[in-house]
Amino acid sequence: KTKMKSDIEIAQQAVMKPIIHIAEKLGLSDDDIELYGKYKAKISADTLNTLKKNKAGKLILVTAINPTPAGEGKSTVTVGLGDALNKLHKKAVIAMREPSLGPTMGIKGGAAGGGKAQVLPMEDINLHFTGDLHAITTANNALAALIDNHIHQGNECRIDQRRIVWKRAVDLNDRALRKVVIGLGGPLQGVPREDGFDITVASEIMAVLCLASDINDLKTRLSRMVVAYNIDKAPVTVGDLKVEGALTLLLKDAIKPNLVQTIEHSPAIIHGGPFANIAHGCNSVIATTAAVKLGDYVVTEAGFGADLGAEKFLNIKSRNKEINPEIVVIVATIRALKMHGGVSKQELAMENTEALRTGFANLQKHVESIKEFGLPFVVAINKFITDTESEINVLKELCEQANIPVALTEVWEKGGEGGLELAQKILAILEKNEHTFQNLYSLESTIEEKILAIATKIYGANRVEYSSKAKKQIADFEKFGWGNLPICMAKTQYSLSDEPSLIGRPEGFSITIREFKPSIGAGFLVALTGDVMTMPGLPKKPAALNMDVDEDGKAVGLF
Ligand code: ADP
Repeated sequence: KTKMKSDIEIAQQAVMKPIIHIAEKLGLSDDDIELYGKYKAKISADTLNTLKKNKAGKLILVTAINPTPAGEGKSTVTVGLGDALNKLHKKAVIAMREPSLGPTMGIKGGAAGGGKAQVLPMEDINLHFTGDLHAITTANNALAALIDNHIHQGNECRIDQRRIVWKRAVDLNDRALRKVVIGLGGPLQGVPREDGFDITVASEIMAVLCLASDINDLKTRLSRMVVAYNIDKAPVTVGDLKVEGALTLLLKDAIKPNLVQTIEHSPAIIHGGPFANIAHGCNSVIATTAAVKLGDYVVTEAGFGADLGAEKFLNIKSRNKEINPEIVVIVATIRALKMHGGVSKQELAMENTEALRTGFANLQKHVESIKEFGLPFVVAINKFITDTESEINVLKELCEQANIPVALTEVWEKGGEGGLELAQKILAILEKNEHTFQNLYSLESTIEEKILAIATKIYGANRVEYSSKAKKQIADFEKFGWGNLPICMAKTQYSLSDEPSLIGRPEGFSITIREFKPSIGAGFLVALTGDVMTMPGLPKKPAALNMDVDEDGKAVGLF
């Protein structure tokens, strides 16, 4: 048996086409793109504007069961499905999130797909790419510096220094920066106060950039961001500090979507990557809109399981009519379902159809959730080479008995070829076009009604409880006129409940809302069900230990 190739080895053996050729496939000329080297480009603002009049293609949303340490492979299936549709001579575009350097240096596993289903150049995409994350970091920290300077120079807005909510950011996992004290050293060094750092993808600016429809909307949203409360406890915004223009200027290129290609030369637009807990976990509205205007079919993904990423895609991002998905792909693996059925990571290699049957309940719940939105779906079994014949047959049977369309997907091993069955099933369902998409709740409902709808219909909880702090915040939010915003739930990704150890399909549980975090620029209220880590730490053996670069500048060991 030959040694399996790593993702980076497969990626580096692939021969890329100049990005201009990929743009031409989409009907774009060299005037429509801004080159970042030979293999990366941004789509120009003028072109994005002209595209608006095009008819929108069909959007396919890829989501998954609750993640387990066994891995699911949403990005891999997203890339492979795009390749499969192109193989069937459909004009298909992939729309994905861009990776953050925090997880890249920390945990093993890139964010550019895997095996033969990858986007290229994977080293660049996983490292600095076209600098979008650096621009967001800079805008975030420019704002932080401007707030501290405002206070230092007389504090015209009467900011209460104990109630500054804007933090600094860096795109790394650095637990030592979670809480810091700044401004030490006397009157010339600013005003001392407690501060902290978030990872860049948790910055509200990332969420704002991803939900903005164009540069004007970006500016409006940035100006609405709440940075602090004043001594009367009223919100102080970026608009009050009059710096939305400067922040937008820093983001003028970051807001343009990036065009790259897959190993099989399918076009992929990779842009924006907000957290899926403290934010909504999907790539940018601008990129998805560009993709549906350029392609007849667009494959996109949302972070974590369907209870988080897909719920937020469908209740937050899809308030924008042009990017309503027409079908959902739910990715499941035999390995992960066995873990939901109680098998430990060490025992995954052993065949266990009993655990698979038990763990199937988790998949079934996500199928029911997608039905709540009125959308059709297909389950994609992301095949691992360790899956046994009888396990695959059991999972197929379970799906068929429950009337769930299912396709075995081998894109990791075979690329687009391995996704043809999935692509054909999707095309057949889209042909019938019988869906009636609806959001789960109306924006006019109360904050409690919206949260109850998500908790009962998507998580399967039977009630929601609030801390006294959360109750007080709800009253304040209504007073500030924020009651009509959608809810962005911050919950563990591992369980349908707010308790990570409750795997499978828990029932009869309650969800507790401890606190809210208003993201008024992004346009949602984050409801926190537990402590959410907005600055991760590095593990004992960070992925950085395997990385190197040779004398020709070629990356080594990056996954
Ligand atoms: P997600 O998007 O769900 O986080 P990814 O698609 O990024 O998952 O995959 C995570 C890791 O798992 C990648 O390193 C990828 O190469 C690997 N992987 C995905 N699918 C398979 C598979 N079928 N067989 C082996 N490895 C896989």
